[in-house]
Amino acid sequence: MNSAIDPSATVDVAVVGGGAGGPAAAVALSRSLRSVVVVDAGEPRNAPAAHAFDVLGREGIDPLDLLAAGREEARGYGVRFLADRVVTADREGPGFRLGLLGGSAVRSRRLLLATGLVDELPDVPGLRRWWGAGILHCAFCHGYEVRGQHVGVLGSRPSSLHQVLLFRALTDRVTFFRQDLDVPAESAAQFRALGVEVVEGAARGVSGEPGALRVDVGSRPVEVEALVVAPWFRARGEVFAQLGGELATNAVGQFVPVQPGGATSLPGVWAAGNVTDPGAVVAAATGAGVLAGVAVHGDLVQEDVRALVA
Ligand SMILES: Cc1cc2nc3c(=O)[nH]c(=O)nc-3n(C[C@H](O)[C@H](O)[C@H](O)COP(=O)(O)OP(=O)(O)OC[C@H]3O[C@@H](n4cnc5c(N)ncnc54)[C@H](O)[C@@H]3O)c2cc1C
Repeated sequence: MNSAIDPSATVDVAVVGGGAGGPAAAVALSRSLRSVVVVDAGEPRNAPAAHAFDVLGREGIDPLDLLAAGREEARGYGVRFLADRVVTADREGPGFRLGLLGGSAVRSRRLLLATGLVDELPDVPGLRRWWGAGILHCAFCHGYEVRGQHVGVLGSRPSSLHQVLLFRALTDRVTFFRQDLDVPAESAAQFRALGVEVVEGAARGVSGEPGALRVDVGSRPVEVEALVVAPWFRARGEVFAQLGGELATNAVGQFVPVQPGGATSLPGVWAAGNVTDPGAVVAAATGAGVLAGVAVHGDLVQEDVRALVA
Protein backbone atom coordinates (compact mmCIF):
# COMPACT_ATOMS: atom_id res chain seq x y z
CA MET A 1 0.00 0.00 0.00
CA ASN A 2 1.21 3.49 -0.67
CA SER A 3 -0.63 5.52 1.94
CA ALA A 4 2.12 5.92 4.52
CA ILE A 5 5.58 5.62 3.04
CA ASP A 6 8.34 5.24 5.59
CA PRO A 7 11.17 7.52 4.39
CA SER A 8 13.76 4.85 5.22
CA ALA A 9 11.88 2.05 3.44
CA THR A 10 12.41 0.77 -0.07
CA VAL A 11 9.61 2.08 -2.26
CA ASP A 12 8.33 0.27 -5.30
CA VAL A 13 9.26 3.06 -7.70
CA ALA A 14 11.43 6.14 -7.51
CA VAL A 15 10.49 8.68 -10.15
CA VAL A 16 13.18 11.24 -10.93
CA GLY A 17 11.60 14.41 -12.32
CA GLY A 18 8.37 16.12 -11.37
CA GLY A 19 7.51 17.95 -14.60
CA ALA A 20 4.82 16.81 -17.02
CA GLY A 21 5.92 13.18 -17.27
CA GLY A 22 7.00 12.13 -13.78
CA PRO A 23 3.82 12.86 -11.81
CA ALA A 24 1.71 11.29 -14.59
CA ALA A 25 3.69 8.08 -14.14
CA ALA A 26 3.34 8.39 -10.38
CA VAL A 27 -0.45 8.66 -10.64
CA ALA A 28 -0.69 5.54 -12.81
CA LEU A 29 1.55 3.63 -10.40
CA SER A 30 -0.11 4.79 -7.21
CA ARG A 31 -3.54 3.98 -8.61
CA SER A 32 -2.21 0.42 -8.77
CA LEU A 33 -1.27 0.76 -5.09
CA ARG A 34 2.45 1.06 -5.75
CA SER A 35 4.50 3.12 -3.30
CA VAL A 36 6.06 6.00 -5.21
CA VAL A 37 8.48 8.79 -4.41
CA VAL A 38 9.02 11.60 -6.92
CA VAL A 39 12.28 13.52 -6.56
CA ASP A 40 12.20 16.83 -8.38
CA ALA A 41 14.79 19.57 -8.70
CA GLY A 42 12.11 22.05 -9.77
CA GLU A 43 13.30 23.10 -13.23
CA PRO A 44 10.46 22.17 -15.60
CA ARG A 45 11.47 23.07 -19.12
CA ASN A 46 8.47 25.25 -19.93
CA ALA A 47 8.69 27.33 -16.73
CA PRO A 48 9.81 30.45 -18.66
CA ALA A 49 6.52 30.44 -20.63
CA ALA A 50 3.42 32.11 -19.22
CA HIS A 51 1.02 29.68 -20.90
CA ALA A 52 0.95 26.06 -22.03
CA PHE A 53 -0.95 25.38 -25.25
CA ASP A 54 -2.09 22.17 -26.96
CA VAL A 55 -3.09 20.96 -23.50
CA LEU A 56 -6.61 19.81 -24.12
CA GLY A 57 -9.00 20.79 -21.35
CA ARG A 58 -6.48 23.22 -19.81
CA GLU A 59 -5.63 25.29 -22.90
CA GLY A 60 -3.41 28.27 -22.08
CA ILE A 61 -2.91 27.37 -18.43
CA ASP A 62 0.19 28.64 -16.63
CA PRO A 63 2.62 25.67 -16.82
CA LEU A 64 3.38 25.91 -13.10
CA ASP A 65 -0.33 25.86 -12.21
CA LEU A 66 -0.70 22.73 -14.34
CA LEU A 67 2.16 21.03 -12.48
CA ALA A 68 0.79 22.09 -9.10
CA ALA A 69 -2.62 20.62 -9.98
CA GLY A 70 -1.02 17.36 -11.16
CA ARG A 71 1.01 17.04 -7.98
CA GLU A 72 -2.05 17.63 -5.86
CA GLU A 73 -3.81 14.82 -7.70
CA ALA A 74 -0.78 12.55 -7.21
CA ARG A 75 -0.55 13.37 -3.51
CA GLY A 76 -4.20 12.38 -3.23
CA TYR A 77 -3.13 8.82 -4.10
CA GLY A 78 -0.27 8.86 -1.57
CA VAL A 79 2.62 9.85 -3.83
CA ARG A 80 5.42 11.54 -1.88
CA PHE A 81 7.31 14.46 -3.48
CA LEU A 82 10.83 15.42 -2.47
CA ALA A 83 12.11 18.81 -3.59
CA ASP A 84 15.70 17.72 -4.14
CA ARG A 85 18.15 16.65 -6.84
CA VAL A 86 19.38 13.12 -7.45
CA VAL A 87 23.16 13.37 -7.58
CA THR A 88 24.17 9.70 -7.35
CA ALA A 89 22.51 6.54 -8.59
CA ASP A 90 23.70 3.03 -7.80
CA ARG A 91 22.37 -0.47 -7.87
CA GLU A 92 21.86 -1.86 -4.39
CA GLY A 93 20.81 -5.49 -4.10
CA PRO A 94 17.95 -6.06 -6.52
CA GLY A 95 17.03 -2.37 -6.60
CA PHE A 96 18.47 1.12 -6.59
CA ARG A 97 19.83 3.69 -4.20
CA LEU A 98 19.56 7.35 -5.16
CA GLY A 99 21.69 9.87 -3.28
CA LEU A 100 20.12 13.31 -3.02
CA LEU A 101 21.87 16.68 -2.97
CA GLY A 102 20.24 17.40 0.41
CA GLY A 103 22.06 14.39 1.92
CA SER A 104 19.28 11.82 2.16
CA ALA A 105 18.76 8.75 0.01
CA VAL A 106 15.85 7.00 -1.69
CA ARG A 107 15.79 3.24 -2.16
CA SER A 108 13.52 1.69 -4.75
CA ARG A 109 12.80 -1.51 -6.63
CA ARG A 110 12.44 0.27 -9.96
CA LEU A 111 13.53 3.58 -11.39
CA LEU A 112 11.58 5.84 -13.73
CA LEU A 113 13.45 8.78 -15.22
CA ALA A 114 11.45 11.81 -16.34
CA THR A 115 14.28 14.29 -16.07
CA GLY A 116 13.54 16.32 -19.20
CA LEU A 117 16.10 18.22 -21.23
CA VAL A 118 18.06 21.43 -21.35
CA ASP A 119 17.53 23.82 -24.28
CA GLU A 120 21.00 24.96 -25.28
CA LEU A 121 20.47 28.23 -27.13
CA PRO A 122 22.72 29.53 -29.91
CA ASP A 123 25.63 31.62 -28.70
CA VAL A 124 24.08 35.02 -29.42
CA PRO A 125 23.89 37.49 -26.50
CA GLY A 126 20.37 38.43 -25.42
CA LEU A 127 18.51 35.25 -26.39
CA ARG A 128 18.03 33.86 -22.88
CA ARG A 129 16.38 37.05 -21.56
CA TRP A 130 13.10 36.53 -23.44
CA TRP A 131 13.32 32.75 -23.88
CA GLY A 132 9.75 31.44 -23.84
CA ALA A 133 8.30 34.92 -24.36
CA GLY A 134 9.53 36.67 -27.54
CA ILE A 135 12.34 34.17 -28.21
CA LEU A 136 10.61 31.00 -29.35
CA HIS A 137 11.40 27.57 -30.70
CA CYS A 138 8.11 25.74 -31.30
CA ALA A 139 5.52 26.73 -33.90
CA PHE A 140 2.94 24.53 -32.17
CA CYS A 141 3.54 25.88 -28.65
CA HIS A 142 3.73 29.60 -29.49
CA GLY A 143 3.13 30.06 -33.22
CA TYR A 144 -0.56 30.90 -33.01
CA GLU A 145 0.22 33.71 -30.56
CA VAL A 146 2.52 35.42 -33.10
CA ARG A 147 0.36 34.78 -36.17
CA GLY A 148 0.41 37.68 -38.57
CA GLN A 149 3.41 39.26 -36.81
CA HIS A 150 6.86 39.95 -38.20
CA VAL A 151 8.78 36.84 -37.16
CA GLY A 152 12.54 36.40 -37.46
CA VAL A 153 14.13 32.96 -37.66
CA LEU A 154 17.76 32.68 -36.62
CA GLY A 155 19.65 30.19 -38.78
CA SER A 156 21.11 28.30 -35.89
CA ARG A 157 20.73 24.67 -37.01
CA PRO A 158 19.56 22.82 -40.16
CA SER A 159 16.11 22.50 -38.54
CA SER A 160 15.87 26.32 -38.75
CA LEU A 161 15.04 25.87 -42.45
CA HIS A 162 11.92 23.92 -41.51
CA GLN A 163 11.07 26.46 -38.82
CA VAL A 164 10.95 29.13 -41.54
CA LEU A 165 8.30 27.13 -43.38
CA LEU A 166 6.28 26.40 -40.22
CA PHE A 167 6.18 30.04 -39.14
CA ARG A 168 5.59 31.23 -42.73
CA ALA A 169 2.37 29.22 -42.56
CA LEU A 170 1.32 31.53 -39.70
CA THR A 171 2.42 34.88 -41.05
CA ASP A 172 3.47 36.36 -44.38
CA ARG A 173 6.23 38.42 -42.70
CA VAL A 174 9.19 36.13 -42.02
CA THR A 175 12.83 37.26 -42.01
CA PHE A 176 15.52 34.60 -42.03
CA PHE A 177 18.85 35.50 -40.42
CA ARG A 178 21.13 33.12 -42.26
CA GLN A 179 24.13 33.31 -39.89
CA ASP A 180 26.59 30.82 -41.37
CA LEU A 181 23.99 28.13 -42.07
CA ASP A 182 24.20 26.41 -45.46
CA VAL A 183 20.93 26.98 -47.33
CA PRO A 184 20.40 24.29 -49.97
CA ALA A 185 19.16 25.48 -53.37
CA GLU A 186 15.77 23.89 -52.71
CA SER A 187 15.26 25.90 -49.50
CA ALA A 188 16.47 29.10 -51.17
CA ALA A 189 13.90 28.60 -53.94
CA GLN A 190 11.17 27.94 -51.35
CA PHE A 191 12.08 31.08 -49.44
CA ARG A 192 11.97 33.16 -52.66
CA ALA A 193 8.58 31.70 -53.60
CA LEU A 194 7.24 32.46 -50.10
CA GLY A 195 8.65 36.00 -50.00
CA VAL A 196 10.92 35.24 -47.02
CA GLU A 197 13.54 37.96 -46.64
CA VAL A 198 17.04 36.56 -46.09
CA VAL A 199 19.47 38.66 -44.04
CA GLU A 200 23.17 37.86 -44.40
CA GLY A 201 25.79 38.25 -41.69
CA ALA A 202 26.23 37.01 -38.14
CA ALA A 203 23.85 38.31 -35.47
CA ARG A 204 25.91 39.99 -32.75
CA GLY A 205 23.09 40.26 -30.22
CA VAL A 206 19.38 40.64 -29.59
CA SER A 207 17.86 43.48 -27.57
CA GLY A 208 14.47 45.09 -27.06
CA GLU A 209 11.46 43.16 -25.82
CA PRO A 210 8.78 40.82 -27.18
CA GLY A 211 6.85 42.68 -29.85
CA ALA A 212 9.85 44.91 -30.58
CA LEU A 213 13.05 42.87 -30.70
CA ARG A 214 16.17 44.18 -32.42
CA VAL A 215 18.60 41.78 -34.04
CA ASP A 216 21.99 43.40 -34.30
CA VAL A 217 23.37 42.30 -37.66
CA GLY A 218 25.42 43.98 -40.38
CA SER A 219 25.36 47.77 -40.33
CA ARG A 220 21.78 48.25 -39.07
CA PRO A 221 19.61 46.40 -36.50
CA VAL A 222 16.64 44.52 -37.94
CA GLU A 223 13.38 44.79 -35.98
CA VAL A 224 11.11 41.78 -35.56
CA GLU A 225 8.22 41.12 -33.21
CA ALA A 226 9.33 37.58 -32.29
CA LEU A 227 12.49 35.59 -32.95
CA VAL A 228 12.65 31.84 -33.49
CA VAL A 229 15.74 29.80 -32.62
CA ALA A 230 16.55 26.11 -32.82
CA PRO A 231 18.18 24.98 -29.56
CA TRP A 232 20.35 21.91 -29.14
CA PHE A 233 18.24 19.60 -26.99
CA ARG A 234 20.53 18.12 -24.33
CA ALA A 235 18.91 15.31 -22.37
CA ARG A 236 19.19 15.53 -18.61
CA GLY A 237 20.69 12.06 -18.74
CA GLU A 238 23.11 12.19 -15.80
CA VAL A 239 21.28 9.61 -13.67
CA PHE A 240 20.94 7.25 -16.64
CA ALA A 241 24.65 7.64 -17.46
CA GLN A 242 25.68 7.03 -13.84
CA LEU A 243 23.96 3.67 -13.99
CA GLY A 244 25.91 2.80 -17.14
CA GLY A 245 23.35 3.87 -19.76
CA GLU A 246 24.46 5.26 -23.10
CA LEU A 247 22.71 8.29 -24.50
CA ALA A 248 22.00 8.57 -28.22
CA THR A 249 22.27 11.61 -30.47
CA ASN A 250 20.33 12.64 -33.56
CA ALA A 251 20.20 15.80 -35.69
CA VAL A 252 18.46 17.91 -33.04
CA GLY A 253 19.88 16.68 -29.77
CA GLN A 254 20.61 13.94 -27.33
CA PHE A 255 18.21 11.50 -25.71
CA VAL A 256 17.81 8.29 -23.72
CA PRO A 257 16.76 5.55 -26.14
CA VAL A 258 13.66 3.62 -25.03
CA GLN A 259 11.40 0.85 -26.22
CA PRO A 260 7.68 1.57 -26.66
CA GLY A 261 6.43 1.82 -23.06
CA GLY A 262 9.64 3.44 -21.88
CA ALA A 263 11.93 0.50 -21.03
CA THR A 264 15.58 1.53 -21.37
CA SER A 265 18.57 -0.71 -22.06
CA LEU A 266 19.17 -0.90 -18.28
CA PRO A 267 17.21 -3.57 -16.39
CA GLY A 268 14.77 -1.98 -13.95
CA VAL A 269 15.06 1.50 -15.46
CA TRP A 270 12.31 3.20 -17.49
CA ALA A 271 12.25 6.69 -18.95
CA ALA A 272 9.57 9.03 -20.30
CA GLY A 273 9.08 12.52 -21.67
CA ASN A 274 11.65 14.92 -23.06
CA VAL A 275 14.60 12.94 -21.73
CA THR A 276 13.68 10.29 -24.31
CA ASP A 277 12.14 12.51 -26.99
CA PRO A 278 12.93 16.21 -27.46
CA GLY A 279 9.72 16.60 -29.49
CA ALA A 280 7.43 15.43 -26.70
CA VAL A 281 5.04 18.28 -25.92
CA VAL A 282 3.24 18.34 -22.56
CA ALA A 283 0.48 15.95 -23.63
CA ALA A 284 3.02 13.54 -25.13
CA ALA A 285 5.25 13.65 -22.04
CA THR A 286 2.21 13.05 -19.82
CA GLY A 287 1.07 10.16 -22.00
CA ALA A 288 4.56 8.63 -22.05
CA GLY A 289 4.67 8.95 -18.26
CA VAL A 290 1.38 7.09 -17.88
CA LEU A 291 2.51 4.32 -20.26
CA ALA A 292 5.84 3.95 -18.49
CA GLY A 293 4.06 3.77 -15.13
CA VAL A 294 1.79 1.06 -16.49
CA ALA A 295 4.79 -0.89 -17.81
CA VAL A 296 6.71 -0.63 -14.54
CA HIS A 297 3.69 -1.85 -12.58
CA GLY A 298 3.33 -4.79 -14.98
CA ASP A 299 6.97 -5.68 -14.46
CA LEU A 300 6.59 -5.57 -10.67
CA VAL A 301 3.46 -7.72 -10.84
CA GLN A 302 5.41 -10.34 -12.80
CA GLU A 303 8.27 -10.27 -10.30
CA ASP A 304 5.93 -10.59 -7.31
CA VAL A 305 4.07 -13.53 -8.85
CA ARG A 306 7.31 -15.26 -9.86
CA ALA A 307 8.50 -14.99 -6.25
CA LEU A 308 5.24 -16.58 -5.04
CA VAL A 309 5.50 -19.65 -7.24
CA ALA A 310 9.29 -20.09 -6.99
C1 LIG B 1 9.72 27.83 -23.49
C2 LIG B 1 8.95 26.56 -23.70
C3 LIG B 1 7.59 26.60 -23.85
C4 LIG B 1 6.86 25.42 -24.05
N1 LIG B 1 5.53 25.51 -24.27
C5 LIG B 1 4.82 24.38 -24.46
C6 LIG B 1 3.42 24.45 -24.72
O1 LIG B 1 2.82 25.54 -24.80
N2 LIG B 1 2.75 23.28 -24.90
C7 LIG B 1 3.38 22.08 -24.85
O2 LIG B 1 2.70 21.05 -25.00
N3 LIG B 1 4.70 21.99 -24.60
C8 LIG B 1 5.43 23.10 -24.41
N4 LIG B 1 6.78 23.02 -24.16
C9 LIG B 1 7.39 21.69 -24.01
C10 LIG B 1 7.27 21.22 -22.53
O3 LIG B 1 8.12 22.01 -21.75
C11 LIG B 1 7.64 19.74 -22.42
O4 LIG B 1 6.75 18.99 -23.21
C12 LIG B 1 7.54 19.21 -20.99
O5 LIG B 1 8.17 20.06 -20.07
C13 LIG B 1 8.18 17.82 -20.92
O6 LIG B 1 7.95 17.27 -19.65
P1 LIG B 1 9.07 16.36 -18.93
O7 LIG B 1 8.42 15.82 -17.72
O8 LIG B 1 9.68 15.43 -19.89
O9 LIG B 1 10.24 17.38 -18.52
P2 LIG B 1 10.17 18.67 -17.58
O10 LIG B 1 8.81 19.23 -17.54
O11 LIG B 1 11.28 19.56 -18.02
O12 LIG B 1 10.48 18.11 -16.12
C14 LIG B 1 11.70 17.52 -15.80
C15 LIG B 1 11.93 17.72 -14.32
O13 LIG B 1 12.98 16.83 -13.90
C16 LIG B 1 13.77 17.51 -12.97
N5 LIG B 1 15.10 16.87 -12.90
C17 LIG B 1 16.02 16.72 -13.87
N6 LIG B 1 17.11 16.07 -13.41
C18 LIG B 1 16.85 15.80 -12.10
C19 LIG B 1 17.59 15.16 -11.06
N7 LIG B 1 18.82 14.65 -11.27
N8 LIG B 1 17.03 15.07 -9.83
C20 LIG B 1 15.79 15.56 -9.60
N9 LIG B 1 15.04 16.18 -10.55
C21 LIG B 1 15.58 16.30 -11.78
C22 LIG B 1 13.84 18.93 -13.50
O14 LIG B 1 14.26 19.83 -12.49
C23 LIG B 1 12.40 19.12 -13.97
O15 LIG B 1 11.60 19.67 -12.95
C24 LIG B 1 7.54 24.18 -24.04
C25 LIG B 1 8.93 24.15 -23.89
C26 LIG B 1 9.63 25.32 -23.73
C27 LIG B 1 11.13 25.27 -23.61
